[in-house]
Amino acid sequence: MKPKNIEVVNTVFAVVWDDGRESYIELEALRRACPCAMCKGETNIMVEYKPKPQHYTPASFELRGWQFVGGYGLQPQWADGHAAGIYSFDYLRKLESTA
Ligand SMILES: [Zn+2]
Repeated sequence: MKPKNIEVVNTVFAVVWDDGRESYIELEALRRACPCAMCKGETNIMVEYKPKPQHYTPASFELRGWQFVGGYGLQPQWADGHAAGIYSFDYLRKLESTA
């Protein structure tokens, strides 16, 4: 399962998957779900956790672009300079289903 097409429409990250399904994730929700060590520590997403307070700015929820990583995920570049999070395609689908 891989993205066939990705678009940002206003504040929504829209993914069309190769199985025909579509996912819509608010950019803010996408950023807040950043899986990198800095944002999430070493916690597992399946375990309950208390996120550390983050200092977000409006630029934190603005997407500059993204690149694919190793055929299993993608790495968004945010307007505030943060680009450490690699979102696996699996994780993106999970985000969408809990939104
Ligand atoms: Zn992060």
